This record gives sequence, C-alpha cells and structure tokens, in this order.
Amino acid sequence: MLDYLIYKHALQNAVKFNGKANVGSVIGKVISEMPSAKGPELAAKAQKIVEKVNNMALQQQVEEINNVAPELLEKKETKEKDIFAFLDIKPGTKITTAFPPGPEKYPHIGHAKALLVNYELAKRHDGRFVLRFEDTNPKLVKKEFYKIMLENFSWLGVKWDKLEYASDYMEKFYQLGEDLIKKDLAYACTCEKEAMRNKRFKGEECDCRLNGPVKNMELFKEMPKMEEESCIIRLKLDMQHKNTTMRDPAIFRIIKAKHARLGIKYKVWPSYDFQNAIMDGIEGITHRLRSKEFEMRNELQRHIQKLLGFKETYIYEFARFELEGVETKGRIIREKIQNKELLGWDDPSLATLVALRRRGFTPKAIKDFVLSTGLSKTESTLTWDDLIIHNRRVLDKEAKRFFMATNNRKIKIKYAPKMTAKAPLHPDNPKMGFRVFKTGEEFYIDDDLKPRQVYRLMHLFNFKDGEFLSKEHNPELKAKIIHWLPADEKQLVHVEVLMPDKSVVKGLAEKDIKKLKVSEVAQLERKYFVRLDKKEKTKLMFWYTHQ
Ligand SMILES: [Zn+2]
Repeated sequence: MLDYLIYKHALQNAVKFNGKANVGSVIGKVISEMPSAKGPELAAKAQKIVEKVNNMALQQQVEEINNVAPELLEKKETKEKDIFAFLDIKPGTKITTAFPPGPEKYPHIGHAKALLVNYELAKRHDGRFVLRFEDTNPKLVKKEFYKIMLENFSWLGVKWDKLEYASDYMEKFYQLGEDLIKKDLAYACTCEKEAMRNKRFKGEECDCRLNGPVKNMELFKEMPKMEEESCIIRLKLDMQHKNTTMRDPAIFRIIKAKHARLGIKYKVWPSYDFQNAIMDGIEGITHRLRSKEFEMRNELQRHIQKLLGFKETYIYEFARFELEGVETKGRIIREKIQNKELLGWDDPSLATLVALRRRGFTPKAIKDFVLSTGLSKTESTLTWDDLIIHNRRVLDKEAKRFFMATNNRKIKIKYAPKMTAKAPLHPDNPKMGFRVFKTGEEFYIDDDLKPRQVYRLMHLFNFKDGEFLSKEHNPELKAKIIHWLPADEKQLVHVEVLMPDKSVVKGLAEKDIKKLKVSEVAQLERKYFVRLDKKEKTKLMFWYTHQ
C-alpha cells in the first residue's frame, strides 16, 4: 500500500514537473493521504521510488499513471481553460507575483482582476504572492484605505504570502539613489518646472546635467530643506529617447505632506517608477500582470532594475474592461456622493468591491467573472449580465427561498380547508429544511386572477373563481402556479428592498425570513435575489442583488 501511494504520487508529480518528481513534495502528498505513514521508512522508500520514476521517460510516466491511477490524469484533463497558457511557464519554474495597490481609493472590480490574476498565477504554480502597498506619495495615501483594501482583498479569498509597505523601504531607496548619483548616473535638476517640461518635450538637455557627483550629492542632502519643486533627482538617460518616459525621468522629488504611516519624517520621496522597479527587484518578483495604462512605464522600470543589478521582472499588460453604465471615475463618484445622487462608495449602482459585497455578489462569482474576461490586449465593455451569470450560478445552489408579496392584494377562497403547509427552503436540497405555514381562507397574492382559470397556490391547493377545488397537484387541471402568503399578521413580516435606482420596494414576507442572518442572500421566489442588510424591530431591510 505504502509503495503504491508513493509510486502514484511520484508519477503525478513527475508528469506535472516535466518528468522530474521532487521527493519532498511526494512525501507531503503521501502523508496528507495517509498520516500514519510519516517516518524514516517513508523517507527511505520515497527516495528510492522517486529515483526510479525520474529515470523514466515522460511518456512512460504518463502511461504508468494511466495503468495505476488513471483518476490522477483525468483530473488534469478536465481542468478549466488556462488563461495563463500564453506565458508559457515551464513546469517547476519558481514563480513570485505581486499586486501593488496604492492605498488611495476604494478598490473596484478592475482592481479585483489585477489582484486575482496575479494571485491565481502564483497559486497555479505553487509560487509566492506578495501584496504590497505602494505608498510613497504622501499626498495620495490615505490611512483608512490600508484597512479597507486588506478587508476587501481577504473577502475575495486572497491569502498573501507576504504583506509589505513600500514606505518601509525609504532608507533603501535613498541608498540606491546615492549609488546612482555617485556613479554619475543621476543628477540633481533645479530647473523651473515649466522650463523642464518644455525641454523634455523638445528633447533638450538642461545645464544641471553637467554638474558632477559631488555637487549632486550636496543638493540631494539639501533637498529636505528646500521648497517643493525646487529640486528633482533625475536619471541621466536620453533626452531624445522616443519613449518620453525615458527622457531623464525623476527618481526623487520633494513632497511636504504628512504621510499616513510615517508622519513628517521624510520630505524627499521616490518616484512611482523608481519605487516600483526596486520593490519588484528586492522581492524577486518574476511575473506581474497589470493593466495597460502602465505600458509606457515598462521600459523605464526594466531599465532601473538593470541599472541597479536586479533580476528583471517579466511584465505583461492586459487591457482593462468596463462595465457598461457604471461610473468608475473617483472624482465623479465623490461629487455624486456629495450631491446625494449616490448613497456612498457602496451605492448599489457602483462596481466597487464594497458595493458588490453589499448587494450580495459572492467572491467566487467575482473571481470566476474576472478570470473569464481573459488577458487580451483589446479593451472591452461588458455588462452587468456578464457578471450576474456567474453570481446566479453560485446563488442558485446556496440561497434559501422565501415568498414575498408586494401588491397587498388580499383574496378569500371559499371552502378552503385549514391546512399546515410545508415548503422547502431550497427546491433541490431538502437538507436545508422547510418553512411551515398555517392557512385558512385568506391569502395575499401578487397575481391578477382571471375568471375560469384554475390556479394552484404553490405547495398548497387548487382553486378556481374564488372557490377551493382540490389539494393534490394534478397536471390535467393545467393550473397556473402562483405564490402566496397566509393573510395572518402573526405569520408575516414587513420587508423593504432597496433597488439599484435607489427606489424602495415594500412588501410582506413569510416570518421565517427573519431567521436569515445579516449579509445572507436569499431568493424571493419568482422575483429576485436579495441580501439582508439590516434587521429592524418592525421590518427587514434588503438590498436587491439581481434577478
Ligand atoms: Zn535642470
């Protein structure tokens, strides 16, 4: 048995990693399947068997799995389409990826994509994933967003191997900056801002470029005492470069603002490109997938890594997508919140993660959706429906069902017997339990009733023209099934649903809906999914999820 287990996992591991199994991984797999196997005997046997397997040709290994454990191969075949295939990463390559947000705003679904594709890429290759706050512009960083982002990303199910803050590396940035100045690869530029912008545009060098390292170092040290914009450290590159970001770009500038984490300790801050390239280098980030707006910066960032002797990070830029009709511009959202056109950053019309969460979108649906959008370079506009399809797949399986009536239309059915009705909380999963109603002759319904039409109150009985017909479900009656509530205050609860257009639908629902926990999503049968937002004494408040 033990030999078989080792053999099976050695084969699988070998096939996964280009024909070479790793003894440690194989031992780990065996122990997770058979914990009692742990010990020196396992280690010795694993060593021998892995050696034997590694001496086989890859094709032979595949055939052997087919013989001894075909289920291990099938699993691989049914795996979903690999959106990372184009990266052509060889099995066994050590992968480290990162997602580096600036703690400056509420993350939206576009950020979720950049986060999740990097996280997934690392996970699929047993690699590392680093979450890094790029917080070296004290004017942009806001304290609250560190926490909001961590909460949002954890909610999405992301588990980072390392969390770091670029602002913890200030001394390192200074040291590397000084090295460049001393090697005459960077200089202090004291030109006026407008003049310099012009020079960079025209491809003309400024006189500061002629200063030597000694003078540049002096100015660099003086910078904390100088006014903002009066001195900038620039890389000495090529003022005629066709990529304008390569024309002597800034690597340090003076920013006199209080930093959310560091207060007023620093007044000279690294540029985005300098910081980003160094942080990727220090952490040994092998791959990074990011959206296309950074494309121009790629050349500069790779150049900085090369100058400083870091291993280059492979960067791939994918196109952003937009959700049709959804506002994503922070400035406009802020204005609309101020004008009370939006409830806040979690307004149900927005695609921020806080908004999606509050409406009842699930982390799994968001992940499935963003991965399904792929990594193409062509911009695309998607609709809410593209996202909803994934969420409905999750909710259909999980959400409890309840009746709600919104028309306040009371009907009386003559001769209806007193009954106790049982309705499943989920049509396909009786294990979730039942709701129980006691009924008499009066009901609330939402439908308009037509004469001579047979109706069936779902799970209850058939009636026609206001009179009871029969209990049993009988297809020959061609009864139209309708939803209902017993017209009995004790069995009902008032509910309100906030719609994406901020209108509020009021209605009555069965009392068992009170058993929902806040944040739980339910389906109001034949209407839509809703997420319980708040429980009040006399009513429950829901947010509309989708149909
Ligand atoms: Zn200058």
